[in-house]
Formats: sequence, structure tokens, C-alpha cells
Amino acid sequence: MAKVLYDQDINKEVLQGKKIAVVGYGSQGHAHAQNLRNSGYDVVVGLRPGKSQQKAENDGFDVKSVADAVKEANVVMVLLPDEHQVEVYKESIKPNLQAGNAMAFAHGFNIHFNQIVPPSDVDVFLVAPKGPGHLVKRTYDEGAGVPALYGVFQDVTGNAKELSLAYSQGIGAARAGVLETTFQEETETDLFGEQTVLCGGLTNLIKSGFETLTEAGYQPEVAYFECMHEVKLIVDLLYEGGLENMRYSISDTAQWGDFVSGPRVVNEETKARMQEVLSEIQSGEFAKGWILENQANRPQFYATNAKENAHPIEKVGKELRALMPFVKQPLQTNDEKQK
Ligand code: NAD
Ligand code: MG
Ligand code: MG
Ligand code: MG
Ligand code: MG
Ligand code: MG
Repeated sequence: MAKVLYDQDINKEVLQGKKIAVVGYGSQGHAHAQNLRNSGYDVVVGLRPGKSQQKAENDGFDVKSVADAVKEANVVMVLLPDEHQVEVYKESIKPNLQAGNAMAFAHGFNIHFNQIVPPSDVDVFLVAPKGPGHLVKRTYDEGAGVPALYGVFQDVTGNAKELSLAYSQGIGAARAGVLETTFQEETETDLFGEQTVLCGGLTNLIKSGFETLTEAGYQPEVAYFECMHEVKLIVDLLYEGGLENMRYSISDTAQWGDFVSGPRVVNEETKARMQEVLSEIQSGEFAKGWILENQANRPQFYATNAKENAHPIEKVGKELRALMPFVKQPLQTNDEKQK
């Protein structure tokens, strides 16, 4: 079994007295910067001028240009959108890294797919929280944490692994457990998970269920509650205690339906498609497509996004959520607010 480490297993000394530059102040950036500061570390935020800068300043941070933040830091955590990392790295990070510094990432994409080739005299490590940035902050504030994967790509100081562990501890991840990985494993599993299960799998499962019911003449409001709203309630039970815990709470009728109908919907064919997706991730084909899509200014990304936002489930969902004040407003990143 893999070795999961917790707060008490981690030596914080390697990171103490070091200056940490958090580059980017979006979903992950605001959480890392605030959690590290609350854990007693010296944090500078590196940003271009804009809304994020305002937000970071309002949160009491010393905000500098990316170049200046990197210059004064010992550890540089890159929390820019993956698609913008290469240009910012070339322009502002690389020229200002000093020998013996560490550069870190929350996702391995650009290192693993060779989009960023780091200089040979810096440590390069990974701390990838397994959850959205807003929860990295919220759970930290509640005394808990989001688990994370840590790993080392390049170790020149001999401290890279200890640094990645101390950093994980600083953002609260070691309260939940941290697990060693490689940039390759983190990148491939993260892409696979979001594409087939967490994001792509779930959104398409929800939409298909909603469409099936409404096309059969059932009320969209009923279909929304059944196929979207209730997902959260079921997922909470899965999160707390796995499949058995969820099935304990549902009726035996629901459980029987789970057993007989579930495997007809998600089946061997679905798994074959998942294997196809995984091979495309492993071969670099997915990465290449996404890099090219960005170079072309994202024609397909924006067209699909507009179409998805216009789906009938979104309209009925907005109306119903407005009547449930206890359902929190959607979390948006600074970049999304700018659009
Ligand atoms: P984001 O889009 O929420 O935020 C990006 C930040 O970078 C913003 O503050 C934005 O203003 C800033 N920025 C963008 N372009 C810039 C530029 N050219 N110069 C300076 N600043 C710029 O990003 P995110 O979702 O937090 O993702 C950051 C990293 O964390 C990525 O590597 C991502 O894969 C990884 N990650 C994200 C999540 C998540 O919850 N969103 C989870 C795990 C890992
Ligand atoms: Mg992920
Ligand atoms: Mg991801
Ligand atoms: Mg029900
Ligand atoms: Mg039951
Ligand atoms: Mg986003």
C-alpha cells in the first residue's frame, strides 16, 4: 500500500525562513497564498496588473510583478492557468530564477509534456491538491485540508522532496494526507479523472438523464432535482463513506435499481472508451490538441462553452437555485469574472 503522510511526519524546517512567491491569484493561487501565510510563511504574490492584483492587495498581500516576485523568492509556485504558463515562464520566471531556487507546480502538464524545460540548477517539485482551490482554502480555515500529491522532477539541492512535503503541509494538505507521485502519474491521472469521471463523465451523465426525462414529457424542474441537485447529496455520502455508506442510506429499491440498471448505462463499452481516452492522454495526443486549440485562440472551446451554457438544464437550474438561498452562489475565478 502507498505511504500516506500526515502533519506529524513532515519536517517543516527546510521551508522556514524561505520566501515563497505564489505566481497567480486565481482558484489555487489565493488558497495557497493565504494558507501558507496562515501557516507562518513569508509570501509574495506575483501577478500582472488586473483584477487578481486588486484582490490580492485587498487580502493584504505584497503584490509584485511576476519578475520581481521571482527575483526575491527562494521558492516559486506557478499557479497560472496551464495554457499561459509557458509564455510567463519564458518572459518573467526563467530569467529571474537563481541557482538553488525551487520552482513548483500544482499540475504537471507543462513539465511532463516538455512545454517548460527548467534550468538544470533549480529544484522542481509538484504539490497537486486533489480538489478545487476554493476548497483548499475553505477546508484549511475549518481546520481540515484537501489531500495532495507531491513529487519531484529535479533535485539539485538534495532538499526537493522535503520542500514539497513542507509546502504541502503549509497549505493544509497533510491534515488530509499527502501521497508521493511523479509528474507523469499526476498529469496522466489528473487529466483522465477530469475527462472521464469528475467533469466530462459527470456532466454528460447528468445531461443525458435530464434530456431523457424531459424528452419523455416530465417537468424540467423535476428532472433538474433528480439528475443535478441530488447528485451533491449522493456524492456527500460517497465522500463520507464510500459505496456501501451511500447504499446504506438510499432505499433498497434504489439500491436494487443501482445494481440492475447502473451497469447497463455505464458498461464495458464505456470502459473501452475510457481506455481510448487514457491512451490519447498517455501518447500526448490530448495535450497536443489542447496546445493547438490555444494557439488558434480556442475556437472550439468557446463555441462549445456557449452551447453548453445554453442547455435547458442551466436555465431551469438558475431559476430553482435562486429559490434555495442556502445553495451557495457559484464559485468563480478572477479570470472568469474578467470575461
Ligand atoms: P485560475 O485561472 O483560477 O487563476 C490563474 C491566475 O493567474 C489568475 O490570478 C490570473 O489573473 C493569473 N494570470 C493569468 N494569466 C497571467 C499572466 N499572463 N501573467 C500573470 N498572471 C496571470 O487558475 P487555477 O485554476 O488556479 O490553476 C492554476 C494551476 O493549478 C494550474 O496548473 C492548474 O492545473 C492547477 N490546479 C488547479 C485546480 C483548481 O482547483 N482550479 C486544481 C488542481 C490543480
Ligand atoms: Mg484534478
Ligand atoms: Mg486538472
Ligand atoms: Mg430519488
Ligand atoms: Mg439502503
Ligand atoms: Mg477554470
